[in-house]
Amino acid sequence: MKIKLNLSNIYQKICKDTGGENESPKLIMVVRLLTLVMLFYTLIDCVISLFTRHVGGSIFCILSLILFLTIFILSYKCKTFVSYCILNVYILIWIICNVICFGWNIGVQHFLVTLLMFCYFSKYQHEAAKICYSILLIWLRIFLYYYCHSHEPYIMLSSGTNDAFQIVNTLAIFGSIAMIAYIFSTDTQALEGKLIEYNEKLQQQANTDMLTGLYNRRKTIEYLGTLLKSTENQISICLCDIDFFKRVNDTYGHDIGDVVLKTLSQTFQKELPKDSFISRWGGEEFLLIFPKLNGDEANIALENLRQKIKSIVFDGGIEKFSVSMTFGLVEYDYHSDLNTMLKQADEKLYIGKENGRDRIVY
Ligand code: GH3
Ligand code: MG
Ligand code: MG
Repeated sequence: MKIKLNLSNIYQKICKDTGGENESPKLIMVVRLLTLVMLFYTLIDCVISLFTRHVGGSIFCILSLILFLTIFILSYKCKTFVSYCILNVYILIWIICNVICFGWNIGVQHFLVTLLMFCYFSKYQHEAAKICYSILLIWLRIFLYYYCHSHEPYIMLSSGTNDAFQIVNTLAIFGSIAMIAYIFSTDTQALEGKLIEYNEKLQQQANTDMLTGLYNRRKTIEYLGTLLKSTENQISICLCDIDFFKRVNDTYGHDIGDVVLKTLSQTFQKELPKDSFISRWGGEEFLLIFPKLNGDEANIALENLRQKIKSIVFDGGIEKFSVSMTFGLVEYDYHSDLNTMLKQADEKLYIGKENGRDRIVY
């Protein structure tokens, strides 16, 4: 528990912002963490150099250690961008000195990749500055490569020491790149997730009717258009309408009318075959699409639905009541277009209304 508390204290100290306005808390956190990685790296270097009794190497490592420690302390005193610049400049000088002193083989030049990545995550630099800085880093790496080809290192390390440096370098470079990518990408990933969620919600809202949760007219036209073009199955469509619904509203109130609309929508979903497409066409009219049923099969499903609807008892406050619906059913003839089918269904619905309602016209 105590260790946990201390760790969270250290974490809070590392994340502590500089207090200024428009400062990037993530950037200062990465500056400090990267400085700590460098500190840790130079500390191990010091141990290796002292262990191998290399005087030149030891002096260089101790100096680096002091400078990185200074940068870490300065990060609490200076503005974020200043700390970021100081760290960049110092790591650049440190890479050059390391490569000149110890040669190409210890692999310190790979820290240039860390700097390249870091610069693209900083919000302070303009795009042009980032590109110029990248070019400088690339040029520096090529320059150091050719320099090492024509110059012997000042300090010759034994192959064992070289190997030890290689391992420490690999850990520090991969570790710092992973840390920078992790810290700066967490927000992006969270944002992307939210955006996908938001888009799905928007799409759902654009396709559904608010009151009943059924598909709306827009989505239905889109679905039916695609279905008629793509399917070879028998399709049936049915336009249906609640009988004397105005009377329900007038007698029991608009809120009860809404309850009827919602209850009937749930009944459609419960009673009709699972792959039926159910939509609110408008007002108290619904369009039901049966993508795999011929007219006779759809007629049977609708007859069952019609009976179920009639058996529902609604509480109108002053009294109980029930409603009926009239259905206009059409079977797809494989060559009519969408509008013709809808017109035929509407005509059948009209005939049903004219002939006394509460029926299926097929
Ligand atoms: P018919 O049997 O001929 O269809 O008669 P009807 O009374 O059902 O038809 P009419 O077109 O005269 O009335 C439809 C009513 O549906 C009028 C309108 O206020 C009501 N309505 C439309 N949308 C809603 C809604 O979202 N909620 C409620 N409560 N009523 C609605
Ligand atoms: Mg009606
Ligand atoms: Mg109507």
